[in-house]
Amino acid sequence: MFKKVLIANRGEIAVRVISACKDLGIRTVAVYSEADRESLHVRHADEALCIGPPRSKDSYLNVPAVISAAEITDVDAIHPGYGFLAENAGFADVCRESGIRFIGPEVETIRQMGDKAEARKQARAAGLPILPGSEEPLETAREALSLAKDIGFPVILKAAGGGGGRGMRIVREPSELPELFHQARHEAAVSFQSSDVYLEKYIEGPRHIEFQILGDNHGNVAALGERECSIQRRHQKLIEEAPSPRIDSKTRNRMCRRLEKAFERVGYSNAGTAEFLMDDESELYFIELNARIQVEHPITEAVTGIDLVKSQLLLAAGEPLSSIVSGKIEPRGHAIECRINAENPKTFVPSAGRITQMLLPGGPGIRVDTAAYSGWFVPPYYDSLVAKLIAHGRDRTEAISRMQRSLGMMLMEGIDTLIPFHERVMADPDFVLGNFDTHYLDRFAQRRADAGMSRVVK
Ligand code: ADP
Repeated sequence: MFKKVLIANRGEIAVRVISACKDLGIRTVAVYSEADRESLHVRHADEALCIGPPRSKDSYLNVPAVISAAEITDVDAIHPGYGFLAENAGFADVCRESGIRFIGPEVETIRQMGDKAEARKQARAAGLPILPGSEEPLETAREALSLAKDIGFPVILKAAGGGGGRGMRIVREPSELPELFHQARHEAAVSFQSSDVYLEKYIEGPRHIEFQILGDNHGNVAALGERECSIQRRHQKLIEEAPSPRIDSKTRNRMCRRLEKAFERVGYSNAGTAEFLMDDESELYFIELNARIQVEHPITEAVTGIDLVKSQLLLAAGEPLSSIVSGKIEPRGHAIECRINAENPKTFVPSAGRITQMLLPGGPGIRVDTAAYSGWFVPPYYDSLVAKLIAHGRDRTEAISRMQRSLGMMLMEGIDTLIPFHERVMADPDFVLGNFDTHYLDRFAQRRADAGMSRVVK
């Protein structure tokens, strides 16, 4: 097992990884930017090194600075968390060259899966269902138009190197395509190193359902069941739950076995998530693979009892999967996660500033993952996620009640947070009935704007 691990991240995920290391008796090294001197990950790690100015590109994304910190502190491995360098194949390669274990899949897998057009191709070859679309990145608008006509409108243009819900354009009419194609290519080139764009069928009102994967270095893969992540704003997830209210045990088992076969075929190792869209006929289509731990991993931990971050460390150190996962996995109860972002609960405008008072909820079934504390200044430079509130219950009804109770008992003063927004969603009859898709929040906002009118029927 590793003796010392560097965490190339900040915020709640850095604290989460430090916790897993402590559980395994591994020493930890935190790296931080000048804006994060007072951050909790710095305080909890055994050692901490400043790696640069506040802006991510000068600190958390600065590969030479992170590698130097790893060399100075003589660590065996680096855990990248999510975001920043987590899916950067170049970084994983530098780690390998420097003799430092990168906690994640192999460089080649990260590279392949980082190209969403390539991932689609691989998934198809491995026998997973994909949406009709392009085989290769599209060269010209004319090529895109002819393919879109074959598939039928609407279609969605996506940046092959895209992520975080950015770089997508929905095309409803042939006449819109050339302009949107050029916009998509331009945005891709500016935001994601590559201007490659591909196209697939656009599903109206799909559900987003993803499956958690764990693989070892000996060719074994286990699929641990799904998470439902349809409550999104601008393609960014805000509330997730496990299991999905729309997946029955038979479908889950069938999908998990298919995924295990497919991922064993590509030699997948460590943690990953296969994302799917479900259409209104309950068919699932693969859209992309995230080769890292995800924000919403705690809900899978709650219903499977498997510590995913600890598993990542064990698997990276060469442990066989059989020592982590044994027997058939069926979800135990139901878990929901609310992302508490430092944002205005109505406009979603980010809110940096000092947290003047903070009280965290607890009690049966509640977990809070956060790096925030009373007196901490939320810096404006990074992601606005300040806490994740996770409620686990015997069933969905109990998980919702526990979430409502703990949202009501959670206090974060001095900044705006999404707590009031989550309270409204938890009380919404459509949410309670599990009656939603990825457009749920648009309708929810509309309904609130129409306050006093009768509810808009889906
Ligand atoms: P990213 O990598 O930026 O997160 P994804 O490909 O995972 O992008 O898609 C993010 C979200 O965009 C999905 O959860 C879904 O809401 C929407 N989306 C993506 N592809 C489609 C599609 N073909 N049809 C309908 N919605 C889509």
